[in-house]
Amino acid sequence: MSLRQAGWQSTLASIVLLAGTLLTQATAAPDFSLEKVADGIYVHRGQQQDATAANGGDIANIGYIVGDRCVAVIDSGGSLAIGTALRDAIRRATAKPVCYVIHTHVHPDHSFGDAAFSDPATVFVAHAEYPAAMAARRDGFLANLKNTLGAAADGSDSAAPSLLVSDHEMLDLGNRRLSLQAWPTAHTNNDLTVFDERTQTLWTGDLLFVDRIPVVDGRALGWLKVMTALRALKPAHLIPGHGPVQHDVDAAFAPQRQYLDQLISSVRAALKAGSTLAQTVETLGNQLPQKAWLLFDDYHRRNVTAVYTELEWEN
Ligand SMILES: [Zn+2]
Repeated sequence: MSLRQAGWQSTLASIVLLAGTLLTQATAAPDFSLEKVADGIYVHRGQQQDATAANGGDIANIGYIVGDRCVAVIDSGGSLAIGTALRDAIRRATAKPVCYVIHTHVHPDHSFGDAAFSDPATVFVAHAEYPAAMAARRDGFLANLKNTLGAAADGSDSAAPSLLVSDHEMLDLGNRRLSLQAWPTAHTNNDLTVFDERTQTLWTGDLLFVDRIPVVDGRALGWLKVMTALRALKPAHLIPGHGPVQHDVDAAFAPQRQYLDQLISSVRAALKAGSTLAQTVETLGNQLPQKAWLLFDDYHRRNVTAVYTELEWEN
């Protein structure tokens, strides 16, 4: 080996070492990245995992929309730290105030960063069924968060919404109209979508899961109907509750529709055959779907149980 070669190798080794150090730093303190979806619309993509101490509960898609007058936040994230990271990113990007924090539904990965936005001028918006749903589950959600995150959960909480939507509501951010729609029971009993008229962007909340298995915490049959209505809006861009942003509405909903259709028809067949809940969960829980969903083992059996309970009293 020549001296020249040895020199290069040593430089190379330094670069590899430096890259390794940077990688370690990036892993230890993940930055809060935002993706521009359309003019004035930014989303932070949560990780496609369940909440853990390592990911800090950063598992849901959250973000914001900027109007001429003010900013609307769509979901505040799974903890105070995540809500704060979103708030700070907004402050760096614009001097306009946050006038609305809009909740797509009650689940804690979307709603426990509210305290970062506590300001008398900020209006919290949610489905009319949200307050009762949160009141019934808040203590459990908080206990789970504390178990998962430990001290990092401190200060995380949901705020009481002061603007409730029971059907439809228009919000104006200044030359930018948002159409809010409260839906009948689907993913949950309090799903609310936000449609930005200017860019035809639809924030679906968890009415759309991409790649990650959909979770039925409401009614699968209701969810199928809501998906049909959402398709009719013909959005140019869709921001799901979990997974990458979509630009083709039919392709976006197809895998989820197929999964729910298959779940419903197989549970119906089991009920018709007189299977008990336990037998049905045992049989269908082991059947693999056509698509390989992330977190399938964590949620599929729960979905079988939910749909069995939903369809049990069908005639
Ligand atoms: Zn959800």
